[in-house]
Amino acid sequence: MPLTTYWAEYAWTGGTVEQGVAITATADGRIGRLTAGVTAPPPGATVLRGLTVPGLANAHSHAFHRALRGTVQVGSGTFWTWREEMYRVAARLTPDSYHALARAVYAEMALAGITAVGEFHYLHHAPDGSRYDQPNAMGEALVQAAADAGINITLLDAAYLASGFGRGRAGEPPNDRQARFSDGTAEAWAERVSAFKTSAPHARIGAAVHSVRAVPASQLRTVAEWARQHSAPLHVHLSEQTAENEACRRAHGCTPTRLLADHGVLGPGTTAVHATHLISDDIRLLGGSGTGVCMCPTTERDLADGIGPATRLQAAGTPLSLGSDSHAVIDLLEEARAMELNERLSSHTRGHWSAAQLLRAATADGHAALGRPEAGTLAPDAPADFTTIALDSVRTAGVPPRLGAEAAVFAATAADVRHTVVAGRQIVRDGAHTLVDDVPAALAEAIAALRD
Ligand SMILES: [Zn+2]
Repeated sequence: MPLTTYWAEYAWTGGTVEQGVAITATADGRIGRLTAGVTAPPPGATVLRGLTVPGLANAHSHAFHRALRGTVQVGSGTFWTWREEMYRVAARLTPDSYHALARAVYAEMALAGITAVGEFHYLHHAPDGSRYDQPNAMGEALVQAAADAGINITLLDAAYLASGFGRGRAGEPPNDRQARFSDGTAEAWAERVSAFKTSAPHARIGAAVHSVRAVPASQLRTVAEWARQHSAPLHVHLSEQTAENEACRRAHGCTPTRLLADHGVLGPGTTAVHATHLISDDIRLLGGSGTGVCMCPTTERDLADGIGPATRLQAAGTPLSLGSDSHAVIDLLEEARAMELNERLSSHTRGHWSAAQLLRAATADGHAALGRPEAGTLAPDAPADFTTIALDSVRTAGVPPRLGAEAAVFAATAADVRHTVVAGRQIVRDGAHTLVDDVPAALAEAIAALRD
């Protein structure tokens, strides 16, 4: 197979914008050569007009939440009333209908410049809790959906064993709506996940603790050990809601972060998602252990969660990544700027992160959180995963090209993503998906199939 050559009008390499960058992709999907200062496209090169950046990493996704878009914007309520709506959709999904939905959602992600998704997955079993013939049928549907949409996936298989803290080893049993999430025990979860083998180059299997609500304290270590033994990333929802903190304090006399620390869950391979309501000791524990945090600003504002202490976490040593979580919108550029703009609103000062730092959270640090530390950079040997953002759209026109990163992060939207390349293959060309014919139609059809 011949090498594929791309020519980026501008490319963001190592924190600066270079003009005229030729990028060759090797047959195994890596960047072979990268040459700056190439003033005209080499013969046969695919031209990428705009600013090419490493592929974006969406470090926290629940693909099925995309079916709730719009319908949960009617009326009022809280995270907990929103959750009831979410459970209604969760109850309807089958391996086939979830494949169709996730394929369309991941195609939407590719159109937004996302080249890897962290799918935090807990819809494991049939709605009544019984096992499918293939116990990982739902996870396999998601891995196939990512392949069909042309993006990489880290399937973060989540242990979800209880509906609340309760008493004793088992916690409060899952309710009817949660029956399909539960494997019963962390040991049974580990056995099922261990049987989930994939050799597909686009897929990795990771682990997740749904939350301290959903995994009893005595079973946390089993999940953490499994992740460590398999060198797999470990994710956990953390302190998104103050009610979770209060219930944890009543049950265990400590914060969720302290509980995770005491049961071996924190560490450099771990990413806490949200980390919205923390005390100073929590921030020290997370930063001191090298635990990452994935902020999901568009979901956190949509669900009225609050603003997490991102600047303090980073200062304590925590790498930050970004996720679109509930998919109120799928736009990593919006997530990146929202992290900075939230801080501006709460601190009344500007410039907590540069555009380059925000892009790093949306790329290299996000890929690292998904167990893909080699990704997220435009450099030889890195995966040939990149995306091109228009600098001549109505939103970005007029910004000097040397400030392309600033234009991308602070003005562009997912609609300005023009090209996306994954493993050297162009999966978005001029704003159109090359593998999924009509992404809006695929979304509409998959979502309509889940309605009453
Ligand atoms: Zn989540």
